[in-house]
Amino acid sequence: MLDVHTIRQDFPVLQRKVHGKPLVYLDNAATSQKPRQVIQALVAYYEGYNANVHRAVHTLGEEATQRYEEARQKVADFINAPSLECIIWTRNTTEAINLVASAWARHHLKPGEEVLTSAMEHHSNLVPWQRVCAETGATLRIAPLTPEGLLDMDAFRRLLSPRVRLVAITHMSNVLGSIVPVEEVVRLAHGVGALVLVDGAQSVPHMPVDVQALDCDFLAFSAHKMLGPTGIGVLYGKLPLLEEMEPFLMGGEMVREVTYERATWKAPPFRYEAGTPNIADAIAFGVAIDYLKAIGMSAIRQHEIALTRYALQRFAELEEVQVFGPPRAEQRGGVISFHHPDIHPHDLGTFLDREGIAIRAGHHCAMPLVRSLGVVATARASFYLYNTEEEVDALIDALRKAIRFFGRVGTPR
Ligand code: PLP
Repeated sequence: MLDVHTIRQDFPVLQRKVHGKPLVYLDNAATSQKPRQVIQALVAYYEGYNANVHRAVHTLGEEATQRYEEARQKVADFINAPSLECIIWTRNTTEAINLVASAWARHHLKPGEEVLTSAMEHHSNLVPWQRVCAETGATLRIAPLTPEGLLDMDAFRRLLSPRVRLVAITHMSNVLGSIVPVEEVVRLAHGVGALVLVDGAQSVPHMPVDVQALDCDFLAFSAHKMLGPTGIGVLYGKLPLLEEMEPFLMGGEMVREVTYERATWKAPPFRYEAGTPNIADAIAFGVAIDYLKAIGMSAIRQHEIALTRYALQRFAELEEVQVFGPPRAEQRGGVISFHHPDIHPHDLGTFLDREGIAIRAGHHCAMPLVRSLGVVATARASFYLYNTEEEVDALIDALRKAIRFFGRVGTPR
């Protein structure tokens, strides 16, 4: 059991009011809030040892380099990567996926070959593959979902032919919450010789993820969804692949030897980290990882299962509200997308904001998926370690109020 009351004290923003009401922050799938320890790590860097990394011999430069590389080691340990050379800093999940599209897929895919993804992908794990397939003549295939919103494993198996070179799949849907059985997906994909990239943007923040147990070839995730700052993310890759891939960006720090005519590349991870990196945010991300580890990822997952189960029960009381995604809390993360036939999700989002409740309304960067649900947008509540059953109650009460309000005044569909 998490001591949520104590945890909440670490998050300054959770103490504030919005429109005179206590903030109920339920937009964690978009970005999480930051504990004081992470905010202070940013201040400590800029006040105490701001310097560029891997360049200077002075004390500040050495301190910055040491903390920055310590943070990389923390990330490696967090996902059980075999070594810190497998951890590449990126801006976010999106850039990590684009890195693989540009540095691996563009050089390896040929006409007649395929990339296989799923019908529940975020745009950042769909659009790069559309582009790279168009450029290389490869074909993009989409594995469908079951009526409950889980990956249809029979269909996935049927689509998995020896033509597939890469499976690019989410670990957890940011719209439906559905959890993909990634270990099985990897085993099947490796069986036909395909590599697997896992979009861990929604899973790594919320559950234990072990890259060696999953045996995935690449894993992408973002610090800002897991108590860390914006502007820093990670690509994990198996070292032999990273050693063989071409660089993504060219410039300082990624080169070994340069003449006026040509250059040779450093070994990973530096080959993929051209230019001055995001030093402060990487260090603060390390502190976010310390925070999550101290609480325990299994405990966070259990907390979110319990909260999601409670929320699903409470949502079932609202007769007209449709909840999308798998019915059981164990099959999903703490993400609940919902829709009322007579209230536009944006109106709902605005109404809830007046009650101090922050949710997201829209297509959640997954337009094809949301359209396939038969709506143009959904409202979405998403939980994290600091959310409580009382906040779920506040959401349900506010939804009842909204339904009464819009029932009286009406709303354009
Ligand atoms: N993939 C999934 C499943 C996501 O939920 C998100 C963000 O919402 C992303 C990728 C993209 O993450 P970022 O915007 O941090 O690059």
